[in-house]
Amino acid sequence: MNGSMRIYFDYNATTPPAPAVADAVTAATRDLFGNASSVHFFGQQAKGAMDTARSSVAALIGADPSEVVFTGGGTESDNFAIRGAAEALEPAKRRHLIATAIEHEAVLNTLKALARRGWTTTLLPVDQSGIVSPERLREAITDSTALVSVMHANNEIGTIQPVAELAAIAHEHGALMHTDAVQSVGKIPVDVRALGVDMLSLSAHKFNGPKGTGALWIKRGTRLQAMQTGGKHERGRRAGTENVPAIVGMGVAAKLAAEKLGAEAGRVGALRDRLEEGILRHVTGTAVNGARMSRVPNTTNISFDRVEAESLLIALDLEGVAVSTGSACSSGTLEPSHVLRAMGFPPHRTQNSLRFSLGVFSTQDEVDRVVELLPRLVEKLRRLTKRSHEDTKNAKAHEATSVQKSSS
Ligand code: PLP
Repeated sequence: MNGSMRIYFDYNATTPPAPAVADAVTAATRDLFGNASSVHFFGQQAKGAMDTARSSVAALIGADPSEVVFTGGGTESDNFAIRGAAEALEPAKRRHLIATAIEHEAVLNTLKALARRGWTTTLLPVDQSGIVSPERLREAITDSTALVSVMHANNEIGTIQPVAELAAIAHEHGALMHTDAVQSVGKIPVDVRALGVDMLSLSAHKFNGPKGTGALWIKRGTRLQAMQTGGKHERGRRAGTENVPAIVGMGVAAKLAAEKLGAEAGRVGALRDRLEEGILRHVTGTAVNGARMSRVPNTTNISFDRVEAESLLIALDLEGVAVSTGSACSSGTLEPSHVLRAMGFPPHRTQNSLRFSLGVFSTQDEVDRVVELLPRLVEKLRRLTKRSHEDTKNAKAHEATSVQKSSS
């Protein structure tokens, strides 16, 4: 397979860095080596570059730069928001945490860890469209709820949750509201005030920035226990010498994303729709998982009847097309998607679904190539599955007759 012919439709796992991001990271690594806490020229130069990045990240989400805390990515931001809020509110006897059943592992496993240490947790169910109803939150929330954490866009199916409505309910009960916006920032307009949340997680590598860097937006006045203790970096919120090159790269990525947001969402949305419609039309036994209306524009999750998703993923990879069976963290295992399971799909459907996620470098030619490839690959896999089912049936019949013969 020629490398240049490879098609990357796995932008929700990670995105390629924009060329300007790669250049900025390289330049900052070389030229901005000062410690941003140092008072001399070199330190202040690094600090200045970080301030610029902070402003760009803040502008992308409608925030004030002073409310942006740089972290080591989405997972750390989620941990910081949840653990920081849980610990800060513990003395107030608020020891109940709420999230949804379709959160990323960064949220789900953090709740599990806190549950082992005595917090009570509730996971809100979603309907078959993959959306949580505000009613479910009303039923679950109590006056001892410390935090409600609901993702903005889901990583596997792309559905967008009614975060603003949920935040209003959380606040009625004196709870804090966090949203994991890792999959929406850079894809759709995200405005922290409009969402009405207290904390918002984002991750640079999901919008063409560098990996291992992200931010937690914390509304001014929100009490949060620092998780990483040490020096006074990030206003005492997150200790440790900052990764200046990565932060600079995230700033450039945020600026590019903000500039292109409207046009790019339209372009990518049209490509995603073309891909989705092409697959539904040309491959029999296919269906889209999740609400098609309330969705980020780059994602589609499609179920292929009588196909093992993992086999189709490999068949596509051999043809140079990279897709995913849900979250990157659980790929490599045959664990069925917890998101599709929470949506109430039967086991076969949680195991026959593929996620196609597009982005800034995706083209119409790539979409058309994938639509052209799929019918043949799917038919081949279905023939193989049918044959292996028949072989199993024949072997069982043969076994049964030999048992009969030997017992007669
Ligand atoms: N939250 C969501 C919704 C994600 O999709 C991801 C990444 O897959 C994360 C959190 C974790 O982000 P990071 O890879 O930056 O740790």
